[in-house]
Amino acid sequence: MRCPFCSAQDTRVIDSRVTDDGEQVKRRRECLACKERFTTFEITELALPRVIKRNGERQSFDENKLRAGMQRALEKRPVQADAVEAAISRIKKHLQVCGEREVPALTIGELVMQELRALDHVAYVRFASVYRSFQDLNEFTAMIQNLQTHVE
Ligand SMILES: [Zn+2]
Repeated sequence: MRCPFCSAQDTRVIDSRVTDDGEQVKRRRECLACKERFTTFEITELALPRVIKRNGERQSFDENKLRAGMQRALEKRPVQADAVEAAISRIKKHLQVCGEREVPALTIGELVMQELRALDHVAYVRFASVYRSFQDLNEFTAMIQNLQTHVE
Protein backbone atom coordinates (compact mmCIF):
# COMPACT_ATOMS: atom_id res chain seq x y z
CA MET A 1 0.00 0.00 0.00
CA ARG A 2 1.62 3.22 -1.21
CA CYS A 3 1.56 6.31 1.02
CA PRO A 4 -0.64 9.00 -0.61
CA PHE A 5 1.57 11.74 0.87
CA CYS A 6 5.12 10.69 -0.02
CA SER A 7 4.55 7.53 -2.13
CA ALA A 8 6.69 5.38 0.14
CA GLN A 9 5.89 1.68 -0.03
CA ASP A 10 6.12 0.77 3.63
CA THR A 11 3.05 1.42 5.69
CA ARG A 12 1.89 -0.08 8.94
CA VAL A 13 -1.67 -1.07 9.81
CA ILE A 14 -2.74 0.64 13.04
CA ASP A 15 -6.35 -0.45 13.17
CA SER A 16 -8.69 -2.66 11.13
CA ARG A 17 -12.43 -2.89 11.31
CA VAL A 18 -15.23 -4.15 9.15
CA THR A 19 -17.62 -1.49 7.87
CA ASP A 20 -21.25 -1.65 9.05
CA ASP A 21 -22.42 -3.30 5.84
CA GLY A 22 -19.77 -6.00 6.31
CA GLU A 23 -18.53 -5.50 2.76
CA GLN A 24 -15.31 -3.68 3.41
CA VAL A 25 -12.44 -3.48 5.83
CA LYS A 26 -11.54 0.00 6.94
CA ARG A 27 -7.86 0.22 7.78
CA ARG A 28 -6.02 3.00 9.48
CA ARG A 29 -2.44 3.05 8.23
CA GLU A 30 0.69 4.94 9.07
CA CYS A 31 3.49 5.63 6.64
CA LEU A 32 6.83 4.47 8.02
CA ALA A 33 8.68 7.14 6.04
CA CYS A 34 6.74 10.37 6.68
CA LYS A 35 4.54 9.21 9.60
CA GLU A 36 1.39 10.54 7.96
CA ARG A 37 -1.74 8.54 8.65
CA PHE A 38 -4.46 7.65 6.21
CA THR A 39 -7.47 5.37 5.88
CA THR A 40 -8.08 2.74 3.26
CA PHE A 41 -11.20 0.80 2.42
CA GLU A 42 -10.52 -2.68 1.19
CA ILE A 43 -13.05 -5.22 0.06
CA THR A 44 -13.47 -8.15 2.43
CA GLU A 45 -12.86 -10.62 -0.34
CA LEU A 46 -9.40 -10.89 1.15
CA ALA A 47 -7.34 -14.00 1.07
CA LEU A 48 -7.19 -15.80 4.37
CA PRO A 49 -3.75 -15.88 5.93
CA ARG A 50 -1.55 -18.90 5.55
CA VAL A 51 -1.22 -21.14 8.55
CA ILE A 52 2.11 -21.73 10.28
CA LYS A 53 2.15 -25.22 11.69
CA ARG A 54 4.02 -26.14 14.85
CA ASN A 55 6.88 -27.61 12.81
CA GLY A 56 7.21 -24.33 10.87
CA GLU A 57 5.55 -25.58 7.68
CA ARG A 58 3.16 -23.20 5.92
CA GLN A 59 -0.20 -24.33 4.63
CA SER A 60 -3.15 -22.62 3.09
CA PHE A 61 -6.08 -22.12 5.42
CA ASP A 62 -8.42 -25.10 5.21
CA GLU A 63 -11.98 -24.36 6.22
CA ASN A 64 -13.02 -28.00 5.94
CA LYS A 65 -10.33 -29.03 8.36
CA LEU A 66 -11.48 -26.36 10.79
CA ARG A 67 -15.09 -27.53 10.49
CA ALA A 68 -14.09 -31.20 10.92
CA GLY A 69 -12.15 -30.39 14.09
CA MET A 70 -15.08 -28.50 15.56
CA GLN A 71 -17.57 -31.20 14.59
CA ARG A 72 -15.43 -33.84 16.22
CA ALA A 73 -15.54 -31.88 19.47
CA LEU A 74 -19.29 -31.29 19.07
CA GLU A 75 -20.17 -34.91 18.34
CA LYS A 76 -23.52 -35.84 19.92
CA ARG A 77 -23.78 -32.43 21.55
CA PRO A 78 -27.03 -30.42 21.25
CA VAL A 79 -25.62 -27.66 19.06
CA GLN A 80 -27.29 -26.55 15.84
CA ALA A 81 -25.36 -26.68 12.59
CA ASP A 82 -26.23 -23.01 11.98
CA ALA A 83 -24.51 -22.01 15.20
CA VAL A 84 -21.39 -23.89 14.14
CA GLU A 85 -21.40 -22.21 10.72
CA ALA A 86 -21.80 -18.80 12.35
CA ALA A 87 -18.81 -19.56 14.58
CA ILE A 88 -16.74 -20.58 11.54
CA SER A 89 -17.68 -17.31 9.79
CA ARG A 90 -16.60 -15.30 12.81
CA ILE A 91 -13.26 -17.10 12.92
CA LYS A 92 -12.70 -16.48 9.21
CA LYS A 93 -13.69 -12.84 9.49
CA HIS A 94 -11.33 -12.37 12.39
CA LEU A 95 -8.49 -13.87 10.35
CA GLN A 96 -9.30 -11.72 7.31
CA VAL A 97 -9.53 -8.52 9.30
CA CYS A 98 -6.32 -9.06 11.28
CA GLY A 99 -4.31 -8.16 8.17
CA GLU A 100 -1.63 -10.78 8.79
CA ARG A 101 -0.32 -12.83 5.90
CA GLU A 102 0.54 -15.76 8.14
CA VAL A 103 -0.84 -16.85 11.49
CA PRO A 104 0.30 -19.62 13.80
CA ALA A 105 -2.01 -22.66 13.94
CA LEU A 106 -2.11 -22.06 17.69
CA THR A 107 -3.84 -18.71 17.16
CA ILE A 108 -6.58 -20.40 15.14
CA GLY A 109 -6.90 -23.03 17.84
CA GLU A 110 -7.43 -20.29 20.41
CA LEU A 111 -10.16 -18.73 18.26
CA VAL A 112 -11.86 -22.11 17.94
CA MET A 113 -11.70 -22.56 21.70
CA GLN A 114 -13.31 -19.17 22.29
CA GLU A 115 -16.16 -20.10 19.97
CA LEU A 116 -16.64 -23.58 21.41
CA ARG A 117 -16.64 -22.20 24.89
CA ALA A 118 -19.64 -20.06 23.98
CA LEU A 119 -21.38 -22.92 22.14
CA ASP A 120 -20.95 -25.89 24.41
CA HIS A 121 -18.72 -26.48 27.41
CA VAL A 122 -18.27 -30.20 26.83
CA ALA A 123 -17.10 -29.57 23.28
CA TYR A 124 -14.79 -26.87 24.56
CA VAL A 125 -13.11 -29.19 27.04
CA ARG A 126 -12.85 -31.97 24.44
CA PHE A 127 -11.23 -29.65 21.94
CA ALA A 128 -8.96 -27.99 24.46
CA SER A 129 -7.72 -31.28 25.86
CA VAL A 130 -6.78 -32.50 22.39
CA TYR A 131 -5.55 -29.18 21.08
CA ARG A 132 -3.44 -27.96 23.91
CA SER A 133 -0.91 -30.63 24.57
CA PHE A 134 -0.91 -30.00 28.26
CA GLN A 135 2.51 -30.14 29.79
CA ASP A 136 1.15 -31.44 33.03
CA LEU A 137 -2.14 -32.47 34.45
CA ASN A 138 -2.30 -29.49 36.82
CA GLU A 139 -2.70 -27.09 33.94
CA PHE A 140 -5.62 -29.09 32.61
CA THR A 141 -7.24 -29.35 36.03
CA ALA A 142 -6.85 -25.61 36.52
CA MET A 143 -8.61 -24.96 33.23
CA ILE A 144 -11.54 -27.21 34.15
CA GLN A 145 -11.87 -25.52 37.52
CA ASN A 146 -11.75 -22.12 35.92
CA LEU A 147 -14.49 -23.25 33.56
CA GLN A 148 -16.68 -24.48 36.39
CA THR A 149 -16.46 -21.20 38.26
CA HIS A 150 -17.60 -19.44 35.08
CA VAL A 151 -20.55 -21.78 34.65
CA GLU A 152 -21.84 -21.39 38.19
ZN1 LIG B 1 4.53 8.85 3.54
